Amino acid sequence: MLKRILGIPLYIQILVSIFLAILLGQLIPQDAELFSIPVLGIYEFLGDLFLQALKMLIVPLIVSAVITSMAGLGKDHAFGRLGLKTLSYYATTSILAILTGLFLVNITEPGLKDGQPNSILKEIAAPEEEVSSKVGDRGMRDIVEIFLRMLPPNIIKAAVEGQMLGLIVFSILFGYFIVHIRKDLSKSLTNTSEAVYEVMLKITSLVMRFAPIGVFGLVAEVSVKSDLDLFLSLFKFFLTVLFALGIHLFVTMPILLSVIGRVNPFKHYRAMFPALLTSFSTASSSATLPVTMECLQHKAGVSRRISNFTTPLGATVNMDGTALYECVAVIFLIQVYGGDLSFATQMTTVVLALLTSIGVAGVPSASLVAILVILNAVGMPKEALGLLMVFDRILDMCRTSVNVFSDSCGAVIIARTEGEKTKLLS
Ligand code: ASP
Repeated sequence: MLKRILGIPLYIQILVSIFLAILLGQLIPQDAELFSIPVLGIYEFLGDLFLQALKMLIVPLIVSAVITSMAGLGKDHAFGRLGLKTLSYYATTSILAILTGLFLVNITEPGLKDGQPNSILKEIAAPEEEVSSKVGDRGMRDIVEIFLRMLPPNIIKAAVEGQMLGLIVFSILFGYFIVHIRKDLSKSLTNTSEAVYEVMLKITSLVMRFAPIGVFGLVAEVSVKSDLDLFLSLFKFFLTVLFALGIHLFVTMPILLSVIGRVNPFKHYRAMFPALLTSFSTASSSATLPVTMECLQHKAGVSRRISNFTTPLGATVNMDGTALYECVAVIFLIQVYGGDLSFATQMTTVVLALLTSIGVAGVPSASLVAILVILNAVGMPKEALGLLMVFDRILDMCRTSVNVFSDSCGAVIIARTEGEKTKLLS
């Protein structure tokens, strides 16, 4: 269980850290030193320690969780039904998120001024070399790659490179066939993966005790590096993205939770609060995965059978916030650069946002690569991406929280449709 420290609940401690970090980041200059050590370096060190501790758990956690869950599902032949429900949920919520973004960006038109491209914004874009060094060259081939990566030729290499999708597919197959071998062998494999999984959860609890310190480092680093003037120039774009994410998080998701899941959305927010704060500070769904699973099982009361299958898959392929962001960002850039805003282009953007969001890795700024693929497809110059790079991190923190929240809602809703009684009933 995620423990209280000094009697104060963990989420309150993390919240206090976030506020302190924002405050200190703004008050203390970037080049300040503490006992001759750069303050920025201290923030980076604290944040990296925490992030690395979480990342360290991901591979064993995913593999053991999926294998354990599949071994259970394979036994009662529930895999097909559960798989179908999970994928339908992911596709539906991603489409809802994209359409919300598309609707809002067409209403607010953040890239236009008096109906004309607001080309003055181009001046603050990061230079093309920076764009190239960060995302390289991307095209339609990258969409095909997403599907190729599902079957990694070398499973160890996939683990080393953090290719979660390949690991999950392998673990699904492995877990599925565990129940098709000799009983005694099958039992020992299931016990081993369950034991590994238990240990991973224990280590997660330990790492989370240090979350307030790690989160402080991560957020202070972002706060100290953020330039408020740039923020003001992109204010309308920011508000559009935040508002669209807000609708998905506070309107669409609670409706699905209460109508289909028949659970109390407020209880769900409360249960998932530590995961939401972790995703906000780390901007990484993958790094948040251990915390998401911990909250779902211990606070929301979702069974392992369901959450161990849906959550690793969700952290990898279900990215509602990212899909929404991709759509808003591409339409915004087309507006600024005076591109084609026809219905066909907007629909291409919607479809590609859905497809690419499946392949976006759960790490910071990963969607920039996907946005480049879409920009290429709709005939926009690569340099347009530079405009997003100047201020990506804060929006990344927000969209990652939406990604994680949607995964958690998926687990609860699917558990309820499977007849489970979670702790979140109204
Ligand atoms: N940072 C996001 C995540 O980890 C991906 C992205 O949108 O860049 O979910």
